Amino acid sequence: MYGLGIDIGSTASKVVIVDGDGEIVDWVVCDLGAGTSGAKQALNQVFAKTGLTWGDITYSVATGYGRQRFDQANKQISEISCHAKGMSKLIPGTRTIIDIGGQDVKAMRLQPDGTLDTFIMNEKCAAGTGRFLDVMARVLESDVSQLKDLDAKATDPVEISSTCTVFAESEVISHLANGESIPDIVAGIHNSVAHRTAGLVRRLGPIEEPIAMSGGVARNAGAVHAIERQLETNIAVSDLCKLCGALGAALYALEQAQKMQAE
Ligand code: ADP
Repeated sequence: MYGLGIDIGSTASKVVIVDGDGEIVDWVVCDLGAGTSGAKQALNQVFAKTGLTWGDITYSVATGYGRQRFDQANKQISEISCHAKGMSKLIPGTRTIIDIGGQDVKAMRLQPDGTLDTFIMNEKCAAGTGRFLDVMARVLESDVSQLKDLDAKATDPVEISSTCTVFAESEVISHLANGESIPDIVAGIHNSVAHRTAGLVRRLGPIEEPIAMSGGVARNAGAVHAIERQLETNIAVSDLCKLCGALGAALYALEQAQKMQAE
């Protein structure tokens, strides 16, 4: 028995296949999101890696921004539910999840048993999202994957006062023109993202620990440490943080497959 989860995000498509025990058989991340061939490519790759075919998949669930337009899956489930489920598997006992993806930021509080209690989402504005970091990395002639190493070299982070991506970009350009070091500018950018994220998390109410982070930005240790400093707590990150939603979707698929078998 196999459950397949596909998370079609704004910037990337992720697929996870789990076996009948809920263990990950294999996974693929394809850096192409909703509206592209990313979902198809990710599926082709995971089937090529595992030797499985659609016919071997007992049940499948799609999640993420592009889930509604993906009709190959048996069911669509919101990314909030899938992230909660995926994180409870990756880091059991998590009570608060911070998910920073390509175009939104979500803060979720879980019950002690891992079910979703409440959540808050910023999807109106690029500030504080992965997109904000992508734009800033480009201005610095860098790549998001290098931001964590640059941040580690910072000695005196600059202030970024604008929350708007466009104005913050102008501020970064003027810091560059003033000769500030790139590491200090990167650290300032991370502090700005952290400030917004911490504000969102506090709106959930009293902060329940342990806290874990999911989404692509969790791979940026500079951003994660800046959020830890703002919230004055530790944040757990799994190596599979980018797959959290797809894993949750695969686990929902498995539950459904097991239910169908029992009927
Ligand atoms: P979505 O689900 O919307 O496609 P993701 O959760 O995949 O978004 O997150 C995408 C964001 O993660 C990108 O905008 C980028 O800022 C960040 N990101 C992706 N890969 C890396 C990496 N290797 N290092 C640091 N940040 C990354």
